Amino acid sequence: MADTADVIIVGAGIIGLSIAHQLLRRAKLRILVLEKGAALGEGSTGASSAVCRFRYTYDEMVCLARDGVAAYRNWSEFLGEAETTAGYQRLGSLWFTPLGGDWARGEAVRLRRLGVAAEVLDDVELSERYPALNTCLQAPDLESGAEHSCGPGGGRHLFEPDAGYVNPMDAANDLLRAVKAKGASVRFNTKVARVRARSGKASGVELATGEIVDSPVVINAAGPWCNGLSAPLRAAGAWEFTPTRIQIVHVDCPPGMRSRLPICADLTSGIYFREQLGSGQIIVGSLLESDEREAVADADDFARHHDNEFARLKLHALQHRLPGLRISSVRGYSGLYMVNRKDVHPVVGQTHVDGFYLVNGCSGHGFKLAPALGGMIARAITGVRDGFDTDVDPAFLAVNRTPLQLDLKSAMA
Ligand SMILES: Cc1cc2nc3c(=O)[nH]c(=O)nc-3n(C[C@H](O)[C@H](O)[C@H](O)COP(=O)(O)OP(=O)(O)OC[C@H]3O[C@@H](n4cnc5c(N)ncnc54)[C@H](O)[C@@H]3O)c2cc1C
Repeated sequence: MADTADVIIVGAGIIGLSIAHQLLRRAKLRILVLEKGAALGEGSTGASSAVCRFRYTYDEMVCLARDGVAAYRNWSEFLGEAETTAGYQRLGSLWFTPLGGDWARGEAVRLRRLGVAAEVLDDVELSERYPALNTCLQAPDLESGAEHSCGPGGGRHLFEPDAGYVNPMDAANDLLRAVKAKGASVRFNTKVARVRARSGKASGVELATGEIVDSPVVINAAGPWCNGLSAPLRAAGAWEFTPTRIQIVHVDCPPGMRSRLPICADLTSGIYFREQLGSGQIIVGSLLESDEREAVADADDFARHHDNEFARLKLHALQHRLPGLRISSVRGYSGLYMVNRKDVHPVVGQTHVDGFYLVNGCSGHGFKLAPALGGMIARAITGVRDGFDTDVDPAFLAVNRTPLQLDLKSAMA
């Protein structure tokens, strides 16, 4: 292995690969991506629902989502390759909330001002477009399963027509191919034991084998394993990143509903779901902060199955929203979010160690944001602008920022 590089990226998840690609879009650099796994998909990226939607509390996050998703929507141009595997599945995203029509109208105006397409659907319009969806805004009692009579509706629903998803492994594989074609070296089965620094400056990494690789720039894109690399240098400051177990269940989508569902964020009962086109499945996850609290001590050792109780509650909520759904078999799994406990937003940028950068704590947002965050870091390192860059001020997510103020500290923040 070459024992020097211009930039070392630790981790070949969607974040590490996006950074590598964004660097190579603007500069000819010797980039070394080090990945401890034998293949892609070891961490959060392999488990991701990869929903690309836009509404966030902070305008800056809306813009980062808009700019990240723009890369997925123009994937071939972004990659600079005519042939790609990943394709953006534009399903639209519909919000069911008990917050009322004024909320939906206000958010639609805000999104449009920020360059994101948004509509407000009333119950009639919603039912015409998506007849399988129940418009009721009163959640059933999921715990007791008590008899529930659906309310009369009358809601106004925020709809983001450009929302969608990408198969996360297809996207990662496309990026891997693109960065290798542009000369990056990507090493699997290569664990970084520590980041090296001299006189306050990054100087490279030491591998688990004891081998040293020198570089003036090291980027921690190690997802749920990031703490082990930053802690010895106290590089994350006061931020607390917690690997957190996140469950997903999936069920078969009846043929009559296939290709006829938007992505749904159902805040009345705390679930999101989307169809997995091609496989005929519906993937269901949680929007509740209470489901983002299961800290995992060792990111290599956690329960990878789903819990029956989780499935019971979430599928009850799903059946309320899709009354025509008959569930025959339930499958599921768990992955890890790396949650930034202070404000559930990513921490991105250079640390107090010159040349050592973090892109950590991406929680449930990291897939959609990856191209934009990659561009932010690449621009900070090279000083070169690119057509896919975000215009969000890097100070918004910087390592030395103060935590953002939020009512909801979950993936829906
Ligand atoms: C169940 C689930 C659902 C999600 N749904 C969505 C969603 O709908 N929309 C969305 O935008 N985001 C979603 N996310 C979040 C998103 O997937 C993550 O934020 C994103 O994948 C993080 O990417 P990453 O590259 O930082 O981390 P990872 O994908 O975990 O990659 C980190 C890589 O670093 C490697 N590594 C770690 N330590 C070392 C080391 N010391 N040496 C070498 N290699 C190392 C690991 O093996 C791993 O491959 C979801 C996540 C999960 C788990």
